[in-house]
Amino acid sequence: MTRRYHASDLDRLFRRCGARIKRPWRTMPDGRIKHRHPFCRLRPMPGKTRCRYHGGLSTGPKTDEGKAACIEGRRRWLAELRAKGAKVPSGRKSGDAWVTTGMRGKRVAEEAERAARLEAERLAAIPPHVREAQAVIEKIHLFQERLAAERWQREGLPVLLGRLNEERKAAQAVALREAEREARRRAEAWVAEFNRQARGPLV
Ligand SMILES: [Zn+2]
Repeated sequence: MTRRYHASDLDRLFRRCGARIKRPWRTMPDGRIKHRHPFCRLRPMPGKTRCRYHGGLSTGPKTDEGKAACIEGRRRWLAELRAKGAKVPSGRKSGDAWVTTGMRGKRVAEEAERAARLEAERLAAIPPHVREAQAVIEKIHLFQERLAAERWQREGLPVLLGRLNEERKAAQAVALREAEREARRRAEAWVAEFNRQARGPLV
C-alpha cells in the first residue's frame, strides 16, 4: 500500500508524538531487558500533536450539539437495524460460547450438592422402623448372594470346566483325524506320481 502525503501532512514527516513512555524498557522472553526511547517516536495524527496511542484519536463529542448528534446517530442506526430486521449486536454470547470452564465446573458441583441433599432428605424422611427393616433385608440379600457365589464355586464351576474340557478334547480329536486324512492323501498322491514317472521311460 502506498501512502499519500498531503501538504498539510508535511510537518508530520518531521515531528514526533514525544509523549513520555511509561515503561521505557521491555523484558524479553529470555529475561534480557531491552531499553526503548523514553519519548514516543511515532508520528502525530493528522492535525494533532500526539500519536493515536497518546491522545491523537478522537475522545468523543465535547459540545452539547455534538453529544446530541452522537445520540441521534445511534438512534438512526438502531432504527435502520430494526427496519432491516437485523439483531442489535449486544449482550452475552449465545450458547456454549458464553459458558466458561469455571461456570461449567460450578454447575456440576451445584448439581452434585443438590443430589446429595435430596438423597439425605429422602433418607431422613424414612421412619426409623422402616429403615431398620430395610437394613435387615439388605443383609439378607447380601447373605443370599454370598451363598449363591459359594454354591457356584462348589458345584457350578466344576461342571462348566468339565464341559469345556470335553469340548476341547472333541475338537482335538477332530483335528487329529483331519491331519491323518490329509497325510494319507498326500502319500497316495506321491505314490501315484512316482508310478507315473517310473512307467514313463519304459514305454
Ligand atoms: Zn505517542
